[in-house]
Amino acid sequence: MGGGGGCAGKDLTKDTETAGREATANGTHAVPRMSAPQRLMWRAALALAVLISASALALAGVLLAQGEAPLSLLARFDDATLRHAGLAAIGALALLPLSFLAAAWLVVLRERRQAEALALLRDNREALRLSRDQMRRVFASLPVAYVLAHTDGRLVKANPQAVALFGLKGRPLDEVNIFDFTEDDDFSEELRGYLADAGRIENFEITMKGLDGRTFWVLYSAAQVEMDGETLLFAAFSDITERKRVEQALQKNETALRAIIDASPVPVVLSNHASGAVVYVNQAAAKFFGRGGAELIGRNASDLWESAEHYAGLLAELGVRGHIEDREVRLIRADGRPCWVQTSTTVLRLQDDTLVYAAFTDITERKRKENELHRLATTDPLTGALNRRAFTERAVTEGERARRGGYPVALVICDLDHFKAINDTYGHARGDAVLKRFTAIVQELIRPSDALGRIGGEEFALLLPGSDADAAARVAERVRARFAAEPVAGGEPIFATASFGVSAWPHGLQLDAVLQAADAALYAAKAAGRDCVRLAGAEETKIVPIGSASRNGRGRLAP
Ligand code: GH3
Ligand code: MG
Ligand code: MG
Repeated sequence: MGGGGGCAGKDLTKDTETAGREATANGTHAVPRMSAPQRLMWRAALALAVLISASALALAGVLLAQGEAPLSLLARFDDATLRHAGLAAIGALALLPLSFLAAAWLVVLRERRQAEALALLRDNREALRLSRDQMRRVFASLPVAYVLAHTDGRLVKANPQAVALFGLKGRPLDEVNIFDFTEDDDFSEELRGYLADAGRIENFEITMKGLDGRTFWVLYSAAQVEMDGETLLFAAFSDITERKRVEQALQKNETALRAIIDASPVPVVLSNHASGAVVYVNQAAAKFFGRGGAELIGRNASDLWESAEHYAGLLAELGVRGHIEDREVRLIRADGRPCWVQTSTTVLRLQDDTLVYAAFTDITERKRKENELHRLATTDPLTGALNRRAFTERAVTEGERARRGGYPVALVICDLDHFKAINDTYGHARGDAVLKRFTAIVQELIRPSDALGRIGGEEFALLLPGSDADAAARVAERVRARFAAEPVAGGEPIFATASFGVSAWPHGLQLDAVLQAADAALYAAKAAGRDCVRLAGAEETKIVPIGSASRNGRGRLAP
């Protein structure tokens, strides 16, 4: 303890210390022996009683020695009154010692009772002193600082931890006010008021300043207690400066981390795993989606995806793997434009929340270039039809798919008629225009699932999944008729024609074999006069276009 500050009960300890030890040694109340005046009185009473008895005996002895019975002496008195007086005197002499003894015994008895009561009182005081000692020891050994103060804040007691915490060493406690430790005066007033109203405060985290000028964080609890008829304030302080320092450092880190993520050029979206609600977007993400951050918070993350099913699939995969890296997905911007992104997505468990952390890289431009490269690698630059290699790959894939799916597939080979002559007559550029026109007509007349490839200079192949040979022949006929009917513009109109060989693709047959069959049919078409469609294995059956013969005189080039 730092300074003065008397403790109630301390004054009780000294005078009862020895007695206390005796009392606790055998566990019973100590009954003190007679005090000196008691002994003196007791002895005097005894001596007097003995003296009187002895005197009576001596008198009786003298009378007996003279040959008279003590009572016969009384008989000598004639007067009855004297006789009675004599009898009373003898009776009194005989009772006196008994009276003395009885009186002395009563006095001693009372004294003993008083002594016992006193001993009991001392015992109680000792017990109280002991419990206070124990309490003092407990408080001294508590790992927290505590003080006992008057309600106005003046200190009464402080344990060593409080002395150290508030720098009270060498300071008289009654000169120190507990409310002076609070740094903020307004807050100090608030605390006082709160304590006065509620009678207690619990676990306030506040900064305090010791008398040595040191500031620190404490967990502050206080309660009003009644002690020896006075209302006192019992306050406990746990020094949480270190914990606060760590917390503040963490908070600083968190703030720094948040600032870094916020300023990151990589768009980041955090959403709740269970509800899907977006809980955070950084600036890059807000810019990327073309919406304000606040507009995005609370929306369902699947709204940002082009396909909600794809998002659900990604979530399901995340549930199993916990992390998905570099997945290429399509998102939707505010203006409805879909865009390609590469996303790395992780499940984050933060306290009670399970979040989905998704970082995006916009790969729309990369995808566009990739697609362009792919297009260049797979198509013919002049006509846009698939090149030979791409067509072959496509045909093999579709042939296999048709086999698995059990549906038909057919192949058509088309060759422009007398094309050399077109080049020779109109020039190479116009020849190119004729090739492009033919391709455009085919593309217009076929289904998206069909594929057109340029497999030679003026030779094309058409793959028709889901079509048998007859259906393919009908498509070829439509193309033939249209191409033959529409002159190619861009100068002098050019009427051109093409010949077609059609073959079904029996399941399991090699592509080369089908191409050969279609080629044979084409050869038959050429042989049959061109501008016609022939079926493989039925070369004799020419599908004659209506009115084709009549156009021969309108620009058709002779072989
Ligand atoms: P046929 O009716 O028997 O098919 O006669 P054809 O003249 O069409 O056949 P041929 O094989 O003799 O001639 C094909 C011509 O196609 C030769 C070539 O100069 C021309 N050609 C090939 N590729 C291109 C091209 O990209 N542009 C142009 N303008 N002409 C091309
Ligand atoms: Mg030709
Ligand atoms: Mg040719």
